[in-house]
Amino acid sequence: MTNPSQPRAAGLLPVRDDAALSALCFDNRFLRELPADPLTDRRRRQVHGACYSYVEPTPVRDPKLVAHSAEVAALIGLPEESYREPSFAEILGGNALAKGMTPYAACYGGHQFGSWAGQLGDGRAISLGEVLRPDGEHWELQLKGAGPTPYSRTADGRAVMRSSVREFLCSEAMHHLGVPTTRALSLVATGEAVVRDMFYDGRPAEEPGAVVCRVAPSFLRFGNYQLLAFRRDVPTLKQLVDHTLAAHFPELGPLHPTKETYARFLGVVAERTARLLVHWQRVGFVHGVMNTDNMSILGLTIDYGPYGWLEDYDPTWTPNTTDSSGRRYCFGNQPGVAFWNLVRLAEGILPLVGDARPLEEALLAFPHTFEREQAAMIKSKLGLTAWRPDEDAELEKELYNVLQLVETDMTIFFRQLAWLPQQEPDLSTWLDQVLTSAYYRQEDLQGPHRAAILKWLGRYQQRLRKQDLPDQLRRDKMNQVNPRYVLRNYVAQLAIDRAEQGDGSLIYRLLQVLRHPYDDQPESAEYAEKRPEWARHRPGCSMLSCSS
Ligand code: AMP
Ligand code: MG
Repeated sequence: MTNPSQPRAAGLLPVRDDAALSALCFDNRFLRELPADPLTDRRRRQVHGACYSYVEPTPVRDPKLVAHSAEVAALIGLPEESYREPSFAEILGGNALAKGMTPYAACYGGHQFGSWAGQLGDGRAISLGEVLRPDGEHWELQLKGAGPTPYSRTADGRAVMRSSVREFLCSEAMHHLGVPTTRALSLVATGEAVVRDMFYDGRPAEEPGAVVCRVAPSFLRFGNYQLLAFRRDVPTLKQLVDHTLAAHFPELGPLHPTKETYARFLGVVAERTARLLVHWQRVGFVHGVMNTDNMSILGLTIDYGPYGWLEDYDPTWTPNTTDSSGRRYCFGNQPGVAFWNLVRLAEGILPLVGDARPLEEALLAFPHTFEREQAAMIKSKLGLTAWRPDEDAELEKELYNVLQLVETDMTIFFRQLAWLPQQEPDLSTWLDQVLTSAYYRQEDLQGPHRAAILKWLGRYQQRLRKQDLPDQLRRDKMNQVNPRYVLRNYVAQLAIDRAEQGDGSLIYRLLQVLRHPYDDQPESAEYAEKRPEWARHRPGCSMLSCSS
């Protein structure tokens, strides 16, 4: 169901009527309700007065399914065995379409590393349409790495296997951790090579290519609104915001939004973004490229690039070598950057409101939500039943100091802390026997460092004794918010090494483990271990670039 008055790309790809994907119902609201680019070829261009361009994926040589997510298949209504059909890899690799799919690339802009970058757009992502489920939910399917679009600028529209494995696995891992995120349906090897200069050091090399099919209610970003505001295209901006409200924020009410509705919209986005950031800080996720074109209007984690997981607790850490000098997007800066990005979004909505004051007020939802949720988060990470501001703020502050004294694995630290008996008299032995696995170098646990850690443990224990919660119960509660398994960078790299040989077995194994990140799963303990020495300097394990 697309707007019949609008031009469409000449359909070159075959339509697989018999595929399971063709039995889905597509209801392409975004295309129906918003203006299209009148041109339908792939020439790179500035697109004005439109929200997207029709463009088909460019076929690849030999599409082969490497992995798929059974949960996401079920979510969009595919029968369990659909992934076995040859047409599954063909469609999700970009060589064919299912009935009802109408491919397009969205037009957006963004601030990159603090500077306005103008039009960016889906340079290698191509949406296939929105699946409508019987319950009324819509799920947009989007191929990443499906070939050039009008927004590809100087690049090739493709993606390499390493970054595609990382996006596929991490989307699913985040979902199971309870972090709002886009999902991933499939990972298809293209059978074609892609040339990348991984560290921008003049050594380009061929790498295997891949296409991920991502799934979300929408991939709209702050940058979609920003670009229209920047170009003073207020009519299209209004159409886009009104579409967003009707399709994704029905709770904001009336069919004819007012200025107040727009301000409330910003407030809801600010609140969702704050909740998202608290989740990232809870699990130790560093996005790596929080440009405004990578900020979801729905408050989802979007665009998995050079992301990473804190192993050593270091707030100044970023996995993105492209950002290593400024560290704009390091772990500790993420909440502040999210707020900065929200202010850019507010500027994008301002033309519809005319007055900055209600938007400034709406933006306060960010600090308010963040502070409240962050306190609740740390309270639950520590297994406290109530927050006593006077003493607990100090306990929290000291905790961060202790985590940074020596190289400490954040994930393991909180898991092990849950084992601390509130009556344990010999904290020193407990440190050496239980907490020790969180430390990268045992020799660090001496002298003043040791004294500081023991002091904090003592203080924490005292605090635990002031509440009436048995150790076992506290441990169970803590283990529901402190994961045992996160997608450690080196673990993802192990899966990449195999996938590059065409073997997706470790991806499936990790998917299985990451489905239950809060369970101990002793048979998979190896994937919960701290980063081994070999991974400290291996590209992909500790250093990543935007090249993908
Ligand atoms: P990112 O840093 O991945 O958020 O991408 C920033 C912009 O560059 C977006 O407009 C992307 O679509 C575009 N882009 C990134 N990689 C490629 C590529 N290989 N081909 C075309 N466009 C790309
Ligand atoms: Mg992006």
